[in-house]
Amino acid sequence: MTQADPSARKPSPTRRFLDDNARRTKVVATIGPASDALSTLSAMQDAGMDVARLPLAHGSIDDAVGRLRRVRQAAPDVGVLVDLPGPKIRTTPFPEGGVVLAAGSEVVLSPHGLAPRSDESSIGVSVPELVESLCEGDRIALGDGGVALVADKRDGYSMRARVVAGGKVQGRPGVTAPASRLVLKTPTPEDLHRLEVLLEEGIESVAVSFVRTAGDLEAVKAMAGRSVLVCAKMETPEAVDDMDNILQVADTVMVARGDLGVRVALEEVPHIQKRLIRSCIAWGRPVITATQMLESMVNSPVPTRAEVTDVANAVFDGTSAVMLSAESAVGVDPVNAVATMARIARRADRDFDSVHWGRNLPAQSFAAESSTGARITAAIGAAAWRASVDEKAAVIVACTNTGATARAITRFRPQAPIVAATPYDYTARQLTTSWGVDTVLVPEAKSTDEAVNHGVAAVRAAGYAKAGDVVVVLAGSLHDPEPVTDTLRLVRIY
Ligand code: PEP
Repeated sequence: MTQADPSARKPSPTRRFLDDNARRTKVVATIGPASDALSTLSAMQDAGMDVARLPLAHGSIDDAVGRLRRVRQAAPDVGVLVDLPGPKIRTTPFPEGGVVLAAGSEVVLSPHGLAPRSDESSIGVSVPELVESLCEGDRIALGDGGVALVADKRDGYSMRARVVAGGKVQGRPGVTAPASRLVLKTPTPEDLHRLEVLLEEGIESVAVSFVRTAGDLEAVKAMAGRSVLVCAKMETPEAVDDMDNILQVADTVMVARGDLGVRVALEEVPHIQKRLIRSCIAWGRPVITATQMLESMVNSPVPTRAEVTDVANAVFDGTSAVMLSAESAVGVDPVNAVATMARIARRADRDFDSVHWGRNLPAQSFAAESSTGARITAAIGAAAWRASVDEKAAVIVACTNTGATARAITRFRPQAPIVAATPYDYTARQLTTSWGVDTVLVPEAKSTDEAVNHGVAAVRAAGYAKAGDVVVVLAGSLHDPEPVTDTLRLVRIY
C-alpha cells in the first residue's frame, strides 16, 4: 500500500486552485474493503479524492453506517455519495478465489433456494422470478458481460444453459437477462430502508441505480427532501432514451458504463457517454463518468495507455468528475489509484480549451414549467462568465447557501478559479462533485451586500485575489420567495 507522504499533504481546500497546475476535474473514489481503514481514507484525501462513493450493494446497513462515519472522521473535506444498488440481480456466492466457466460447458441456473452456492456447473440466482421468466435461446450475461450463457432447456424451476463466452467469475456477479424478461422496480423497499437510516447520519448525496424514467427518482426525492442531491445512474437503454426528462428531475448524473455496457452494444457506450455529458452541461447538472477507467490498477501499479487516454478524453468531453470503482474498493493500492487518476485529470485540464468552450456553450435547457428564478440564475451566470473573460478576473466568487449559484457558473468551465463562499459545510461537501469549484466557509449574511463582502474578504484572505485584481461576484437575493442568483458585481481589490 502506498503510504501518504506527510510533507505532501493537500493544501487547505481554500487554496487548491491557486496553483497554475491546479486540477479542476473532480475525482470520485469508491470505498470498499481495500480502502476503508482510517489511514487509507486519509491518504486518499491527500492524494486527491474529492468524493467518496459508498456502494450499498454489499454488507449490512450497519457496515455502511460504520464506513460513512470512518470517511467523515478520516477525510472530512470529501463529499460522500451513497449509492443505492436498486434491483440488481446477482448469483449466489462462487467459491473463494472464483471459478472458470469454460466455453462450451453446461451450467444449470436455479433460484437461490435451490442453489445457495454457485460453482462451475450450478449457478444460483438471487431473484427466482428471473429464472422462471427465461426462455430457451435467451442470452444471459454475468458480471460486466465478459462471461455469457445461452439458455438451452427448461428443467422444472431451473434452466439449463451453455457457456458461450467463458471466463473467470468470482464473488457474486450481476446477472443480466434480455430487458423484456423481468423488469424490477427501482428503488427497492430495501433501498428506501437503507436511505432512511443514512439520512439520519446527515448524508448530502444519494445515487439511484437502474433508473429507467424520471418517475423512478420520485420516491428517493420525496424521502430525501430538497437539500439532498439525487444522482441518476444512467445504466439502462430506457434511461438514455428518457434522458431529457430524467435531467429535469435529477440533481446530478453518473454515466454508469459498467451496467450500461451489458445492456447496450459496447460500441455504443462512448457515444452515449458523449451525449449524456453534453445533455448534462446543457441542463447544468454535474456529471460523473464511471467504471473501468483505470481497471488494470485493480492488480497493477500502473494503468494501461488506453485507460489513461480514456480518463483524459472524459475530461475533454466535459465531464465534471471521473470515478474509480474496483480500483479503489478492492484494488491493490487505492491511494496510488487516486493519485494516478488525479495526475491524469490535472494534465488533461491543462489542455482544456475553456475560452472556446464558454463561447460555444448553448443556452441552458429548462423544462417548460421552470421558474423565472432558474432562468434569471442562468442568465446572470452567463454574464458572469463573459465578465470574467473580458476583465481577466482573478477569481469568480459564488456566494451561495444551497450551492446552486456555484453550479450555475461551473457549466461555463471558466478559466478563472470558481470559489463558492458558503456558510455551510454541508453545501461545501455537495460542491465536491462540481467541476472546478473550490469552497471557503464564510459567516451567514443578512443581506446581499454582506454576502458579497464576506465572499470577497474570504478569497482575499485565502490568496485568490490581491490588490489590483478584479473579482467577479455572484450572489443571490435573500428576499425572493425562491432561490435566485440575481446579483453580479465586479469588485476591484485595493
Ligand atoms: C456501473 O454499472 O457502471 C456502476 C457504476 O454501477 P455499480 O458499480 O453499482 O454496478
